[in-house]
Amino acid sequence: MISTPLVAPAPASPSITGKTQVLAVIGDPIGHSLSPLMHNAALRQLGLDYVYLAFPIAESNLSIALQGFAAIGLVGFNITIPHKQAIIPLLHTVTPLAAAIGAVNTVWRTETGWSGTNTDVVGFLAPLQGAAADWSQTAALVLGNGGAARAVVAGLLELGCPQITIAGRNAQRLEQFLGSWSPAFLARYPQSSLGACPWENLSQVLPQAHLVVNTTPVGMAPQVDRSPLTAAQIEQLPASAIVYDLIYTPSPTQLLAQAQARGLRAIDGLEMLVQQGAEALRIWTDRQEVPVDLMRRSLQTHLGLI
Ligand code: NAP
Repeated sequence: MISTPLVAPAPASPSITGKTQVLAVIGDPIGHSLSPLMHNAALRQLGLDYVYLAFPIAESNLSIALQGFAAIGLVGFNITIPHKQAIIPLLHTVTPLAAAIGAVNTVWRTETGWSGTNTDVVGFLAPLQGAAADWSQTAALVLGNGGAARAVVAGLLELGCPQITIAGRNAQRLEQFLGSWSPAFLARYPQSSLGACPWENLSQVLPQAHLVVNTTPVGMAPQVDRSPLTAAQIEQLPASAIVYDLIYTPSPTQLLAQAQARGLRAIDGLEMLVQQGAEALRIWTDRQEVPVDLMRRSLQTHLGLI
């Protein structure tokens, strides 16, 4: 008697062939990453025989994972927490920008070895490009002094903001953050100066802050009802202030809802996420044109925003 299988085998994906090239994101944990979603949508649209996968890599396995990636001819990969700094000594070359930030989020294979850069800066800047033509009078305030704050500060230097104040809750970490920028890198931006503000002194800088960037996780799950600024602190901001929250879900965050209620311009982190990915895809595929709209739409759909 011929028995039929209870579960029919899934049809092979038409996008996987014997020549399919592999891109990836690595982190630990990595299951939450939205990068496979937007990159695979873009790769299909471009008609490229590539697939983008998520690999959980423990810190102790980073070096051996890179050797494995080289052995199987991986084209490139994104890096997220906790490997953005640890990857640097394992790469053959790192762009000056990524070296100054001290973090790499995009790696590609070259004939001589792995090269890395940081596309978070391009991503961070993208939604600001149309917001003003001249940033030379815009004092900026960065809330938080972690990893994302480093790309934000590099972006604000690039914009030409004259005063960039970083607010942190831990005096020692705040001081370390401020001292971590190489004098040679800062010398490229003579029009800008960096300063620190202990969290309890925020009220002193808010009235001059024309651009506020939240780089803390306050406002994202499980803290969705919280804001890094109180309603009274939001009131202190100039009427022309832009409030930019790197968090992309929920939308809007409590901070952005408060800013909108006061009539301030609010920007969330979704565009940064999309644009850092688009920039990585340009590097891997050596194309200027990548389907940014589709990448954005795939995330918005997944997050229930459209
Ligand atoms: P991180 O390295 O852990 O840094 C978080 C920073 O927030 C630290 O300086 C931390 O201060 C500070 N912080 C945490 N809770 C705080 C509180 N209650 N009050 C004041 N400061 C507080 O994290 P990260 O990688 O920079 O990420 C930060 C946020 O940015 C996350 O929400 C992440 O999702 C978002 N992000 C978005 C994008 C995007 O593409 N849109 C990209 C990167 C990151 P201490 O040092 O004192 O702990």
